[in-house]
Amino acid sequence: MCEIYHLHLIITIMTTQELQIAFEEAYGRKAEKMYFAPGRVNLIGEHTDYNGGCVFPCALSFGAWLLIAPNTDKVLRFKSLNMPQTYEIAIDKIAPQPDRAWCNYSLGCMAIIARRHPEAKLEQGYDLLYYGNVPAGAGLSSSAAMEVVTARAFTEEMGWKDTDDKAYRTELALIGQACEHEYAGVMCGIMDQFASAQGKKDHAIYLNCDTMEFEHVPVKLEGIKVVITNTHSPHHLDSGAYNDRVRQCQLAVEQISKVKPIKNLAELTEEDWREVEGAISDPIAKKRARHVVGEVARTADAVEALKKGEIAYFGELMTASHVSLRDDYEVTGPELDALAEAAWQVEGVLGSRMTGGGFGGCTVSLVKDEAIETFKAFVGSEYEKKTGLKADFYVAEIGDGVKALI
Ligand code: ADP
Ligand code: MG
Repeated sequence: MCEIYHLHLIITIMTTQELQIAFEEAYGRKAEKMYFAPGRVNLIGEHTDYNGGCVFPCALSFGAWLLIAPNTDKVLRFKSLNMPQTYEIAIDKIAPQPDRAWCNYSLGCMAIIARRHPEAKLEQGYDLLYYGNVPAGAGLSSSAAMEVVTARAFTEEMGWKDTDDKAYRTELALIGQACEHEYAGVMCGIMDQFASAQGKKDHAIYLNCDTMEFEHVPVKLEGIKVVITNTHSPHHLDSGAYNDRVRQCQLAVEQISKVKPIKNLAELTEEDWREVEGAISDPIAKKRARHVVGEVARTADAVEALKKGEIAYFGELMTASHVSLRDDYEVTGPELDALAEAAWQVEGVLGSRMTGGGFGGCTVSLVKDEAIETFKAFVGSEYEKKTGLKADFYVAEIGDGVKALI
């Protein structure tokens, strides 16, 4: 595979047979087990999760594969077809490794499984080989895919597994999220790991991130595709900008609570909003809150639209979501705006918006089959003209959540 060591380029597919061969080349023997966990794209519901609101992601058909075989050396050997670094860690020395080592995403899951389930024990060593085809750092959650695939494999190896499939998948997501917090230092919500664990082919997940109640909603898009466009922008939503948004939303909650006690902005309907917005004296906090209240309503409307087959309306809501993220939440930036604004001009595009935290990463668009080539050509050239960067396009398939392959 010529793409080895490139997480950023193109989406490649390796067959399970090719992965088996890669494992044999790496370790000189066959893998005993193989698992897959997907990346995800959020269709609508952005920056709602930490405000008590819902999100609407779906799992992708690309993600992370993990092949494992036990060894007799009591060490964990880590290799990845995407990364040049390899690691060897004794099974009784599991701790975060320095320099943002990629094995932290695996080690963290093992440590957290042991902590959350005292009966689970790592009693032997393993040789591990990862392969991912989610472009890393593009906001499609290659890290969540890696965590969930590891949690799936090692809950089983370490001897803990819930017999209730739904509860088991939620627990895999929680293990992945705790790993992301403690071993990667990213204080993310539950959406990414949840979508990777609970995804279902041709369904999106309407998820309340607070209660973790969710519903699989069929995505029937006859003659329309979900197209993901990667900005390849070096910008991302850094923790400073993220924490600012969290604080501004909290300030809005405090000021609104003087006239109407609330815990989260997501509790407000758009009608409530008109009554309480005057209570927010800080103009920035007011804009942020207006986005959240609008986005929560749009997400609920989008789910209803999808259920009724009103895809054109669904697309309009996606576009309105981008406008709100651009003007009120101010997390889009020139690259995402260039992509979305070019997409809106293409006939056959039902809607287009940024997805993920913002500033860089990807947009997600609904595009009619017959318009896909024009879409790629027009959006690609407009984007390059405005930013000097080249965009990448992926026609997404909505896939299943984490699964065992052998
Ligand atoms: P994303 O938006 O893709 O989740 P992150 O920065 O959160 O971006 O995670 C990317 C990191 O996850 C990579 O830098 C690497 O450490 C790890 N990672 C993801 N996929 C793989 C893989 N296939 N092999 C090894 N490490 C991986
Ligand atoms: Mg990540």
